Amino acid sequence: MMTARIIDGKQIAADIRNELKQTVAALKLQGITPGLGVILVGEDPASKSYVTAKERACEEIGLHSNDNRLPKETTQAQLIALVKKMNADPKINGILVQLPLPKHINESDVLMAIDPSKDVDGFHPVSVGKMMIGEKSFLPCTPHGVIKLLERSGVKTEGAHVVVVGRSNIVGKPVANLLIRKNKNANATVTICHTGTKNLANFTKQADIIIAAAGRPNTITADMVKDGVVIIDVGVNRIEDATKKNGFRLVGDVDFESLKDKASLITPVPGGVGPMTITMLLFNTVESAKMANNL
Ligand code: NAP
Repeated sequence: MMTARIIDGKQIAADIRNELKQTVAALKLQGITPGLGVILVGEDPASKSYVTAKERACEEIGLHSNDNRLPKETTQAQLIALVKKMNADPKINGILVQLPLPKHINESDVLMAIDPSKDVDGFHPVSVGKMMIGEKSFLPCTPHGVIKLLERSGVKTEGAHVVVVGRSNIVGKPVANLLIRKNKNANATVTICHTGTKNLANFTKQADIIIAAAGRPNTITADMVKDGVVIIDVGVNRIEDATKKNGFRLVGDVDFESLKDKASLITPVPGGVGPMTITMLLFNTVESAKMANNL
């Protein structure tokens, strides 16, 4: 039996934010304040809290945020007009359109309207394509956060077998893509599993590193892994819990309790990948400001 070291995502995120704060302070001395344009359409409570957290994080490291909260009746044309205004505004280096959008708006059309040079979420097809062929681009925040967690925890991915569980466009596919790149913080052999995979355990048992992004509790249990595996749990699932004031608690996609005695390193939920996502959004916004000023 092994007791896993816990990867402290909160601490790693705080370290990166401190570094960014210093970079922002240095940029300000040159008269540059990086700015993030934030657009929220409607009243979805989860989206509201994400947007508030993102704006607070901007403030904390000295970024300027331009807050736009629009009513749910906003038309697609109005939303795209605002995106275009932000594309043209030199004070805005990154544009964040909080998803999901109301049903009457086509998400893809809105994301396509964002200037790729301000696409700090990394969801524009130009960013995705550049990432795929290894050109410099904004990397999507959650997958980039996973790479940074591994890097800063001293996990060697080079030559490792990584099993990614999940193939979404925002987590599974891009994280797999980043890990097969030919550089020292990648260079892994990657297997991608999904609901079409026959006998998931066959694959996870061979993994040196497992990245769970299935959106389902207990997708990975202790009997499905080898001793000493590294586990990055991207999942965030609400499960009922009568002992909690709000009636639920958050769990990841892996059975943390049993796996912590078998893994060598594991991320908790909450406090693992989550804090990294916003941090990488800040990172991209600062990068964008540097690029806009040829720095
Ligand atoms: P998603 O779009 O629902 O994709 C889930 C993927 O997992 C799909 O590809 C699905 O396969 C696969 N899958 C589901 N159950 C499976 C199973 N039993 N075995 C194998 N594969 C399975 O979800 P997502 O947007 O990628 O998010 C994944 C999780 O990460 C969610 O819990 C989400 O809340 C969380 N998340 C967290 C952060 C963060 O900042 N911490 C950010 C983004 C997402 P199919 O393609 O075959 O359906």
